[in-house]
Amino acid sequence: MGKYVCLNGKLVERDNAAISVFDHGVLYGDGVFEGIRAYNGRVFKLDEHIDRLYNSAKIIMLDIPISKDEFKSLIVEVCKANGIVDGYIRPVVTRGAGTLGLAPWRCSNPNFFIIADKIQLYPHEFYENGLPIATVATRRNIPEALSPIVKSLNYLNNIMAKIEAHNYGAEEAIMLNQDGFVAECTGDNIFVIQHEKLFTPPVSAGALPGITRQVVIDLANELGYETWEKLFSRAELYISAEVFLTGTAAEVVPVVKVDGRPISDGTPGKITRELIKAFKEYANSTGTPIK
Ligand code: PMP
Repeated sequence: MGKYVCLNGKLVERDNAAISVFDHGVLYGDGVFEGIRAYNGRVFKLDEHIDRLYNSAKIIMLDIPISKDEFKSLIVEVCKANGIVDGYIRPVVTRGAGTLGLAPWRCSNPNFFIIADKIQLYPHEFYENGLPIATVATRRNIPEALSPIVKSLNYLNNIMAKIEAHNYGAEEAIMLNQDGFVAECTGDNIFVIQHEKLFTPPVSAGALPGITRQVVIDLANELGYETWEKLFSRAELYISAEVFLTGTAAEVVPVVKVDGRPISDGTPGKITRELIKAFKEYANSTGTPIK
């Protein structure tokens, strides 16, 4: 368990890391965040995560009070303080304390904090045997209302979908967009494999531009597989040769059943397993050193 949290640039003990109940991050989900992993003593894809954090903040007109380089140094510092070798890092920026109205311009100073700890998204067996998932009725937020490229503190849309999946006995939900095409899962991007080609929905379908998604696309290309962004329905998922999910917390996880239909023979596919191996090797051999 990480002993320290970085709060507004200072290391504080985790039990003393507190922000105001008047913070609009708490009152309205007004803020942005990232989820980052550390592997083998290195922070994975730190530049990409920090760029996405600052882009999310820019879109919601939230000025992060320190530079990107300062933010990256603080992430390394809190990992070091907590002795992180393999772990999960959660940087968060909130609008700050304000009045009880919505107006973000009445908030004095943004708060930022960084947690460095551990995460296990799905039980270990699912990485070996594959995950059954279910399509839910809760649709992904429409991009015209809140762009999926903003990784905001307002995850209720995804949480509602997760609750629905859980009610059906599934660990993860497939979320469709307003037109009924597959967008993504609640905290992961989705891929299908047909005729040894990889397909994933475009960001315009309502997906977050996942950093793991891009890593997997690059690794697949290096292994000689074609990758395409494509709209697909859930019926097309059922008849795909392989399905898998990607995300920082989830990593690469095989999907073996969708809405009660087994994917192929109901075991993790060959290309998925190849990609999991390539991802592990790559993640453990690159990144920003913590020491
Ligand atoms: N979609 C959503 C909604 C997410 O929250 C995440 C996790 N950040 C992802 C996809 C996967 O993105 P990444 O690979 O960058 O973690």
